[in-house]
Amino acid sequence: MRIALIGGGAAAVSLIDGLLGRVLDPEHLDVVVYESGPRPGPGRAYRADLGCAFINTRTGVTSIRADEPGHFLDWLHTTPAGMGTGFAHADADSFLPRWVFGEYLADCLDHACHSGSVRVERQSVQRVRPSATDVLVETADGQRAAYDRVVLCVGGGEPAQVYGLEGAPQYHRDPYPLTDTVTRLHPRARVLVIGTGLTAVDTVLALRDAGHEGDIAMASRRGLLPAVRVSRGRWDLACLTPEALARARERAGGPSLETLGGLLLTELDRAGVTRQEAMERVRPGYDARARLMYQFREAETGAPWQRILTTAANRLAEPLWQLLPDAEKRRYLRGLHHVFQSECHPMPPLTAVALLDMMDDGQLTVRSGIQDVRARPGGGFVLDAHGQRYTFDAVVGAARQSVGLPGPEARPLVSDLVDQGAATPHPFGGIRVDAATHRVLTADGAAQARLHALGDLTAGTFYHTGPLEVISRHADRITDALLAAAPGAAEEPVA
Ligand SMILES: Cc1cc2nc3c(=O)[nH]c(=O)nc-3n(C[C@H](O)[C@H](O)[C@H](O)COP(=O)(O)OP(=O)(O)OC[C@H]3O[C@@H](n4cnc5c(N)ncnc54)[C@H](O)[C@@H]3O)c2cc1C
Repeated sequence: MRIALIGGGAAAVSLIDGLLGRVLDPEHLDVVVYESGPRPGPGRAYRADLGCAFINTRTGVTSIRADEPGHFLDWLHTTPAGMGTGFAHADADSFLPRWVFGEYLADCLDHACHSGSVRVERQSVQRVRPSATDVLVETADGQRAAYDRVVLCVGGGEPAQVYGLEGAPQYHRDPYPLTDTVTRLHPRARVLVIGTGLTAVDTVLALRDAGHEGDIAMASRRGLLPAVRVSRGRWDLACLTPEALARARERAGGPSLETLGGLLLTELDRAGVTRQEAMERVRPGYDARARLMYQFREAETGAPWQRILTTAANRLAEPLWQLLPDAEKRRYLRGLHHVFQSECHPMPPLTAVALLDMMDDGQLTVRSGIQDVRARPGGGFVLDAHGQRYTFDAVVGAARQSVGLPGPEARPLVSDLVDQGAATPHPFGGIRVDAATHRVLTADGAAQARLHALGDLTAGTFYHTGPLEVISRHADRITDALLAAAPGAAEEPVA
């Protein structure tokens, strides 16, 4: 079977690893990975960059294998490439720089290529044309090749450009690579970072690492920083269970947000988290510093809020999302999505400590109520927030991109698929896929026999598609679908 993967980041590496582990005879497999970026494997998230940009999960549970959470840690401890990173001493509880995981991804891909069944094409794919007999892949330099199956693994986009600042002097539209951004900023510049999510946090930490002396402000509508990853391990859910979801499904019109919120509150109540504490987390009007301190205190008392929420997010967000009627999804996106983003994409504790230090030194401010950011005619920028005006010398764009919107490299190919009727935009982001097989759905709702999608492009269907844990589970599902049609597939994973 000839398979093309468009994009060679973590999703593609996870999928290849699963395919090679399960196919009995590699002769039956011919995989081509198309990657247009600087290095196949790391993708956007894990490329070479400053060491202050950390993976936000503990090393012992960060892996491309859904059934082997310790695979990355083993690689660090036992392989020449892993030991060569200088992090062979890392333990399961550590948080490592993202570039280290990039080395792991590149090495896994290298090994796959040595199997003889996988090869990388350093090309940008411009068009993908599925037909009844094959899928034609066309690259930017005009080469064409036909495959039995194609999987779109193109990842997500760069930060959203909300205020039309592109082209303004001292506006940096994308903080990555952080190494470049910090060298382009004057050490005493007053810097505004647009956004308060993980990308904005990376930017602030990079400035700190570079010895930046000027004041820094982070600003967004709500001023909500990522939560701190204070707890570890899964929670044994007793109330928010697949059975409870099945009962909720039977209700006329499908479950409401209130039904699901009720199940979560019962789960929290059973674990000793009061309704008042739970409401505190979703209350608008956050004080960034107080919230971080509150979370560290919570860690000391062992409150299980985060374990419950992240277990529910990684295990149940997908079936929950599919159960919710569209009107309820819209209500959720308006009122709760930002809370989920913060709570379920937390930052490592040391990152939070660094931010607290910067706030206490008076160098860092976190502002909510952002209304506008403008370039001033004579240079510099103005931020309007909560009716107040603040001035800056430089701005870095780090605002969250719309859900499921691919990066500029992938947009022409996705638009072309939509124009052909070979794919359909999902009203909640990305393109529509069949939930069981990740097959792309055509304009008339039929599942493409030969075209699948993995990762951010499927966010409208699954909602929670970013974390590696979710990506590797979804990669396994696509492997099942691919191998069901391939000769020489093993029933069970082969070691
Ligand atoms: C900055 C950042 C930090 C993150 N940190 C974490 C974290 O700590 N923990 C976690 O679990 N998740 C994290 N994530 C989530 C992240 O999305 C996933 O972990 C994972 O990296 C996604 O992999 P991917 O392969 O889907 O996408 P990507 O890594 O973006 O890879 C997609 C690849 O496709 C290539 N491509 C796109 N279009 C084309 C084309 N037309 N032709 C050829 N190639 C193309 C791109 O060059 C890119 O290399 C982070 C994400 C970002 C952006």
